[in-house]
Amino acid sequence: MISLQQVSKSFGPPNNRFLAVDSVTLSIEEGNIHGIIGASGAGKSTLLRLMNVLERPDSGRVIVDKRDLTGLGNRQLREARRSIGMIFQHFNLISNRTVGGNIVLPLELAGVPKKERLNRMEEYLHFVGLWDKVDQYPAQLSGGQKQRVAIARALANRPRVLLCDEPTSALDSVTTSGILDVLRHVNERFGVTVVMVTHEMNVVNRICSHVSVMDNGQLTETNPVEVHTND
Ligand code: ADP
Ligand code: ADP
Repeated sequence: MISLQQVSKSFGPPNNRFLAVDSVTLSIEEGNIHGIIGASGAGKSTLLRLMNVLERPDSGRVIVDKRDLTGLGNRQLREARRSIGMIFQHFNLISNRTVGGNIVLPLELAGVPKKERLNRMEEYLHFVGLWDKVDQYPAQLSGGQKQRVAIARALANRPRVLLCDEPTSALDSVTTSGILDVLRHVNERFGVTVVMVTHEMNVVNRICSHVSVMDNGQLTETNPVEVHTND
Protein backbone atom coordinates (compact mmCIF):
# COMPACT_ATOMS: atom_id res chain seq x y z
CA MET A 1 0.00 0.00 0.00
CA ILE A 2 2.90 2.33 0.83
CA SER A 3 6.36 2.03 -0.65
CA LEU A 4 9.20 4.40 0.15
CA GLN A 5 12.26 3.87 -2.04
CA GLN A 6 15.50 5.45 -0.86
CA VAL A 7 13.71 8.57 0.29
CA SER A 8 15.80 11.43 1.70
CA LYS A 9 14.82 14.82 3.09
CA SER A 10 17.07 17.56 4.41
CA PHE A 11 16.39 20.98 5.91
CA GLY A 12 18.34 24.19 6.36
CA PRO A 13 20.50 26.57 4.30
CA PRO A 14 22.68 25.16 1.48
CA ASN A 15 25.89 25.49 3.50
CA ASN A 16 24.39 23.78 6.56
CA ARG A 17 21.95 21.10 5.47
CA PHE A 18 20.52 18.76 8.09
CA LEU A 19 19.59 15.30 6.85
CA ALA A 20 16.33 14.55 8.69
CA VAL A 21 15.48 11.42 6.67
CA ASP A 22 18.41 9.49 5.23
CA SER A 23 17.71 7.16 2.31
CA VAL A 24 14.80 5.28 3.85
CA THR A 25 13.32 2.27 2.09
CA LEU A 26 10.14 0.87 3.60
CA SER A 27 7.20 -1.19 2.42
CA ILE A 28 3.87 -1.25 4.27
CA GLU A 29 1.27 -3.84 3.22
CA GLU A 30 -2.42 -3.03 2.89
CA GLY A 31 -4.34 -3.57 6.12
CA ASN A 32 -1.35 -3.29 8.43
CA ILE A 33 -1.07 -1.10 11.49
CA HIS A 34 2.52 0.05 11.21
CA GLY A 35 4.25 1.81 14.09
CA ILE A 36 7.27 4.06 13.70
CA ILE A 37 9.16 4.48 16.93
CA GLY A 38 12.29 6.37 17.92
CA ALA A 39 13.68 9.22 19.99
CA SER A 40 12.63 12.84 19.59
CA GLY A 41 14.36 14.35 16.55
CA ALA A 42 14.94 10.95 14.91
CA GLY A 43 12.95 12.02 11.83
CA LYS A 44 9.70 10.10 12.46
CA SER A 45 7.35 12.99 11.80
CA THR A 46 9.23 13.99 8.65
CA LEU A 47 9.05 10.40 7.42
CA LEU A 48 5.27 10.38 7.98
CA ARG A 49 4.86 13.70 6.15
CA LEU A 50 6.84 12.29 3.24
CA MET A 51 4.19 9.55 2.90
CA ASN A 52 1.59 12.07 1.73
CA VAL A 53 4.22 14.42 0.31
CA LEU A 54 3.45 17.20 2.79
CA GLU A 55 7.25 17.21 2.59
CA ARG A 56 8.66 16.80 -0.90
CA PRO A 57 11.59 14.36 -0.86
CA ASP A 58 15.02 15.55 -2.05
CA SER A 59 15.40 12.18 -3.72
CA GLY A 60 13.73 8.78 -3.85
CA ARG A 61 10.20 7.72 -4.63
CA VAL A 62 6.97 7.67 -2.62
CA ILE A 63 4.34 5.24 -3.94
CA VAL A 64 0.94 5.03 -2.25
CA ASP A 65 -1.84 2.76 -3.50
CA LYS A 66 0.19 2.01 -6.65
CA ARG A 67 0.55 5.71 -7.46
CA ASP A 68 3.93 7.46 -7.57
CA LEU A 69 3.24 10.69 -5.66
CA THR A 70 6.68 12.15 -6.29
CA GLY A 71 5.88 12.77 -9.93
CA LEU A 72 2.64 14.64 -9.32
CA GLY A 73 1.98 18.36 -9.62
CA ASN A 74 0.29 20.27 -6.80
CA ARG A 75 -3.26 19.84 -8.08
CA GLN A 76 -2.95 16.09 -8.66
CA LEU A 77 -1.24 15.79 -5.30
CA ARG A 78 -4.12 17.50 -3.49
CA GLU A 79 -6.47 15.03 -5.09
CA ALA A 80 -4.26 12.02 -4.28
CA ARG A 81 -4.03 13.14 -0.63
CA ARG A 82 -7.78 12.65 -0.24
CA SER A 83 -7.14 8.94 -0.05
CA ILE A 84 -4.56 9.56 2.69
CA GLY A 85 -6.03 10.83 5.98
CA MET A 86 -3.91 12.36 8.72
CA ILE A 87 -4.32 13.04 12.44
CA PHE A 88 -1.99 14.94 14.76
CA GLN A 89 -0.86 15.14 18.38
CA HIS A 90 -2.71 18.45 18.90
CA PHE A 91 -5.76 17.47 16.82
CA ASN A 92 -5.61 20.52 14.50
CA LEU A 93 -9.34 21.22 14.64
CA ILE A 94 -10.61 24.60 13.48
CA SER A 95 -11.68 26.41 16.63
CA ASN A 96 -14.36 28.66 15.13
CA ARG A 97 -16.17 25.79 13.40
CA THR A 98 -18.46 23.31 15.11
CA VAL A 99 -17.63 19.62 15.24
CA GLY A 100 -19.90 19.09 12.24
CA GLY A 101 -18.37 22.05 10.46
CA ASN A 102 -14.87 20.67 10.97
CA ILE A 103 -15.87 17.37 9.41
CA VAL A 104 -17.64 18.77 6.38
CA LEU A 105 -14.93 21.34 5.53
CA PRO A 106 -12.54 18.97 3.71
CA LEU A 107 -15.55 17.52 1.89
CA GLU A 108 -16.56 21.01 0.73
CA LEU A 109 -13.03 21.53 -0.56
CA ALA A 110 -13.22 18.17 -2.34
CA GLY A 111 -16.48 19.22 -4.02
CA VAL A 112 -18.64 16.57 -2.34
CA PRO A 113 -22.34 17.56 -2.69
CA LYS A 114 -24.02 18.89 0.45
CA LYS A 115 -26.37 15.95 1.10
CA GLU A 116 -23.48 13.52 0.82
CA ARG A 117 -21.34 15.72 3.11
CA LEU A 118 -23.99 15.64 5.81
CA ASN A 119 -24.54 11.89 5.40
CA ARG A 120 -20.86 11.20 5.84
CA MET A 121 -20.54 13.60 8.77
CA GLU A 122 -23.35 11.78 10.55
CA GLU A 123 -21.99 8.33 9.67
CA TYR A 124 -18.49 9.01 11.00
CA LEU A 125 -19.60 10.96 14.06
CA HIS A 126 -21.72 7.93 15.00
CA PHE A 127 -18.71 5.73 14.31
CA VAL A 128 -16.54 7.64 16.82
CA GLY A 129 -19.45 7.92 19.26
CA LEU A 130 -19.82 11.71 19.16
CA TRP A 131 -22.95 12.42 17.14
CA ASP A 132 -24.39 14.23 20.17
CA LYS A 133 -21.52 16.77 19.94
CA VAL A 134 -22.20 17.81 16.33
CA ASP A 135 -23.02 21.43 17.23
CA GLN A 136 -20.37 21.91 19.93
CA TYR A 137 -17.12 23.80 19.37
CA PRO A 138 -13.72 22.14 19.84
CA ALA A 139 -13.06 24.15 23.04
CA GLN A 140 -16.06 22.41 24.62
CA LEU A 141 -14.54 18.95 24.10
CA SER A 142 -11.99 16.88 26.04
CA GLY A 143 -8.71 15.91 24.38
CA GLY A 144 -9.94 12.41 23.62
CA GLN A 145 -13.15 13.77 22.11
CA LYS A 146 -11.14 16.18 19.93
CA GLN A 147 -9.03 13.31 18.63
CA ARG A 148 -12.21 11.34 17.85
CA VAL A 149 -13.51 14.29 15.86
CA ALA A 150 -10.18 14.49 14.01
CA ILE A 151 -10.48 10.79 13.19
CA ALA A 152 -14.04 11.28 11.92
CA ARG A 153 -12.84 14.22 9.80
CA ALA A 154 -10.05 12.11 8.32
CA LEU A 155 -12.43 9.21 7.61
CA ALA A 156 -15.02 11.39 5.90
CA ASN A 157 -12.86 11.48 2.77
CA ARG A 158 -12.91 7.66 2.79
CA PRO A 159 -9.12 7.28 2.84
CA ARG A 160 -7.26 4.02 2.20
CA VAL A 161 -4.46 5.11 4.53
CA LEU A 162 -4.51 6.97 7.85
CA LEU A 163 -1.29 8.66 8.96
CA CYS A 164 -1.15 9.31 12.71
CA ASP A 165 1.50 11.66 14.16
CA GLU A 166 1.79 10.99 17.91
CA PRO A 167 -2.01 10.67 18.14
CA THR A 168 -2.07 9.85 21.86
CA SER A 169 0.90 11.85 23.15
CA ALA A 170 -1.29 14.65 24.52
CA LEU A 171 -3.67 12.22 26.24
CA ASP A 172 -3.73 10.38 29.57
CA SER A 173 -3.45 6.59 29.60
CA VAL A 174 -7.18 5.82 29.86
CA THR A 175 -8.02 8.18 27.00
CA THR A 176 -5.09 6.76 25.03
CA SER A 177 -6.61 3.28 25.29
CA GLY A 178 -9.90 4.56 23.92
CA ILE A 179 -8.25 6.25 20.94
CA LEU A 180 -6.17 3.15 20.17
CA ASP A 181 -9.41 1.11 20.21
CA VAL A 182 -10.94 3.56 17.72
CA LEU A 183 -7.90 3.26 15.45
CA ARG A 184 -8.09 -0.52 15.60
CA HIS A 185 -11.78 -0.34 14.63
CA VAL A 186 -10.90 1.97 11.74
CA ASN A 187 -8.45 -0.65 10.55
CA GLU A 188 -10.79 -3.63 11.02
CA ARG A 189 -14.07 -2.11 9.85
CA PHE A 190 -12.87 -0.09 6.85
CA GLY A 191 -9.65 -1.94 6.02
CA VAL A 192 -7.72 1.31 6.33
CA THR A 193 -3.93 0.91 6.50
CA VAL A 194 -2.72 2.79 9.60
CA VAL A 195 0.76 4.27 10.05
CA MET A 196 1.48 5.63 13.49
CA VAL A 197 4.43 7.64 14.76
CA THR A 198 4.95 7.33 18.49
CA HIS A 199 7.72 7.41 21.06
CA GLU A 200 5.84 5.00 23.33
CA MET A 201 6.57 1.28 22.99
CA ASN A 202 3.41 0.36 24.92
CA VAL A 203 1.33 2.05 22.20
CA VAL A 204 3.10 -0.10 19.59
CA ASN A 205 2.55 -3.26 21.63
CA ARG A 206 -1.10 -2.45 22.04
CA ILE A 207 -2.21 -2.24 18.40
CA CYS A 208 0.59 -2.41 15.85
CA SER A 209 1.07 -5.36 13.49
CA HIS A 210 4.55 -4.12 12.52
CA VAL A 211 7.06 -1.65 13.87
CA SER A 212 9.99 0.23 12.38
CA VAL A 213 12.68 1.84 14.49
CA MET A 214 14.09 5.20 13.45
CA ASP A 215 17.40 6.58 14.63
CA ASN A 216 19.17 9.65 13.33
CA GLY A 217 17.15 9.79 10.10
CA GLN A 218 17.65 6.13 9.31
CA LEU A 219 15.33 3.14 9.63
CA THR A 220 17.40 0.68 11.62
CA GLU A 221 14.93 -2.21 11.70
CA THR A 222 11.40 -3.32 10.82
CA ASN A 223 9.72 -6.23 12.58
CA PRO A 224 6.32 -7.83 13.06
CA VAL A 225 4.81 -7.24 16.51
CA GLU A 226 3.93 -10.59 18.06
CA VAL A 227 2.16 -9.91 21.34
CA HIS A 228 -0.66 -7.49 21.94
CA THR A 229 -0.87 -6.38 25.54
CA ASN A 230 -3.93 -4.80 27.04
CA ASP A 231 -2.29 -2.13 29.17
P1 ADP B 1 10.73 13.31 15.27
O1 ADP B 1 9.34 13.27 14.72
O2 ADP B 1 11.38 11.96 15.30
O3 ADP B 1 10.82 14.01 16.59
P2 ADP B 1 11.20 15.21 13.15
O4 ADP B 1 10.91 14.50 11.89
O5 ADP B 1 10.14 16.12 13.69
O6 ADP B 1 11.63 14.15 14.26
O7 ADP B 1 12.51 16.07 12.99
C1 ADP B 1 13.75 15.50 12.60
C2 ADP B 1 14.78 16.60 12.52
O8 ADP B 1 14.49 17.43 11.41
C3 ADP B 1 14.82 17.48 13.74
O9 ADP B 1 16.16 17.80 14.03
C4 ADP B 1 14.05 18.69 13.31
O10 ADP B 1 14.49 19.83 14.00
C5 ADP B 1 14.36 18.77 11.83
N1 ADP B 1 13.24 19.38 11.09
C6 ADP B 1 12.01 18.84 10.93
N2 ADP B 1 11.22 19.64 10.17
C7 ADP B 1 11.97 20.73 9.88
C8 ADP B 1 11.74 21.93 9.14
N3 ADP B 1 10.55 22.17 8.54
N4 ADP B 1 12.75 22.82 9.03
C9 ADP B 1 13.94 22.58 9.61
N5 ADP B 1 14.22 21.48 10.33
C10 ADP B 1 13.27 20.56 10.47
P1 ADP C 1 -23.21 25.11 4.85
O1 ADP C 1 -22.46 24.86 3.59
O2 ADP C 1 -24.56 25.72 4.69
O3 ADP C 1 -22.38 25.76 5.93
P2 ADP C 1 -22.49 22.53 5.76
O4 ADP C 1 -22.60 21.44 4.78
O5 ADP C 1 -21.17 23.18 5.98
O6 ADP C 1 -23.55 23.66 5.41
O7 ADP C 1 -23.08 22.01 7.13
C1 ADP C 1 -22.26 21.86 8.26
C2 ADP C 1 -22.87 22.55 9.47
O8 ADP C 1 -24.24 22.22 9.67
C3 ADP C 1 -22.16 22.11 10.71
O9 ADP C 1 -21.98 23.19 11.58
C4 ADP C 1 -23.07 21.06 11.31
O10 ADP C 1 -22.91 21.02 12.70
C5 ADP C 1 -24.43 21.49 10.87
N1 ADP C 1 -25.26 20.34 10.56
C6 ADP C 1 -25.32 19.76 9.36
N2 ADP C 1 -26.16 18.73 9.37
C7 ADP C 1 -26.65 18.63 10.59
C8 ADP C 1 -27.58 17.75 11.20
N3 ADP C 1 -28.13 16.73 10.52
N4 ADP C 1 -27.85 17.93 12.47
C9 ADP C 1 -27.28 18.92 13.13
N5 ADP C 1 -26.40 19.80 12.62
C10 ADP C 1 -26.09 19.66 11.35
